[in-house]
Amino acid sequence: MIQHFTDDVFRETPIPGVGLRPKDGLGDTSLPIWNPAPAGGDDSLPCSDPGQFPLARRKCRQIEVGDVKVGGSAPVAVQSMCNTLTHDVEATVAQIERLEEAGCEIVRVAVPDERAAEALPEIKRRIRIPLIADIHFDYRLALKAADAGVNCLRINPGNINGESRVSEVVAAARHHGISIRVGVNAGSLEKHLLDQYGGATPEAIVESGLRHIAMLEKRDFYETKISLKASDVSRTVRAYRLMASRVDYPLHLGITESGGLRSGSIKTAVGLGILLSEGIGDTMRVSLASDPVDEVGVAYEILKSLRLRQKGVNVVACPSCGRVQIDVDKLVLEVEQELAHIDAPITVAVMGCEVNGPGEAREADIGVAGGHKRALIFMKGEKQGLVDYADIKKNLVEEVEKLAAKYKEPTAAGSAPGDGDGA
Ligand code: SF4
Repeated sequence: MIQHFTDDVFRETPIPGVGLRPKDGLGDTSLPIWNPAPAGGDDSLPCSDPGQFPLARRKCRQIEVGDVKVGGSAPVAVQSMCNTLTHDVEATVAQIERLEEAGCEIVRVAVPDERAAEALPEIKRRIRIPLIADIHFDYRLALKAADAGVNCLRINPGNINGESRVSEVVAAARHHGISIRVGVNAGSLEKHLLDQYGGATPEAIVESGLRHIAMLEKRDFYETKISLKASDVSRTVRAYRLMASRVDYPLHLGITESGGLRSGSIKTAVGLGILLSEGIGDTMRVSLASDPVDEVGVAYEILKSLRLRQKGVNVVACPSCGRVQIDVDKLVLEVEQELAHIDAPITVAVMGCEVNGPGEAREADIGVAGGHKRALIFMKGEKQGLVDYADIKKNLVEEVEKLAAKYKEPTAAGSAPGDGDGA
């Protein structure tokens, strides 16, 4: 039996039922649910090379946001959020199209008013990736968004002022087969929790999340994912770890209001890197005060650095030093720009000289190492020959494009090499 909502959902001895799978029927099951598998076991994350870098993944249920699976054994999904006015359909769709092109897999839009809600059907009709409607307080906007065909509602049931309204929103989500994201933000925690915990502590953030979840579970609704965001890394990490030990819902990771492109990317990489390396996190957004397209690029770089996703070209480059023979900085910039359209998981090494260059270049799919007057090109560990400095970029780009084309060719098994992730 699931024990339904209670005012005492957070305490040292967890309340049976809150956060448990609906079919468990184990009223006396004690949390935590998270049972990390031994490294290299069956629960390894979908790495490019699990033998090289196995990560145990937190076990959790899987939900769907449109056609994107979140949680379970699905790859960590990359999300972003539009910064256009949602009622401006043209601007919003144009931004989503750019996000789609960059590899964004789920997009969220703010729905602050009627005008925004009324724009949703048209936006939904014109985009390809799943759409999340972000709603605060006004349950009628959630009902409209559900009717408009969005794939997920981001709404906190405890903030919509009444049990009957929660029931209506849950009924609409169930009727349309869409999921709900409970999103707790340290900056808008309930006053009684701030008083009780002496501030927006990780425990207060988690209790807020558990209270919202309990309201959904009371209505037998479990198609839920959870985010717990604070603007600093340590609180965010502690809150997610705590929540991960308490429930088996998928977790949406993010450091909120993290900063601009540079500072926000670093802060997010540190925070999400810690969590992802512990197997925590099923979908993520890099929140930047920048073009949302930048968020997608940074998200993939974080995932690629942990070998959790393999989308696109991975450039390995030396920092260069007094031995450098080629302009590494310029070459890396140009190669990254010219190969940004490639989805295939290809590693390209750009090394400045013959000291460490050939070694690294050999490890990559395609590599170049600067040499005296000319550069040495490697393909899959084999020396390919020498090229003039002026031809390095052209040569690298051509070879990567040729290799990328091979990824699109079906194999005997019917799939392209590299399928399974990276999409
Ligand atoms: S590869 Fe050569 S140029 Fe680059 S950092 Fe190492 S020694 Fe310096």
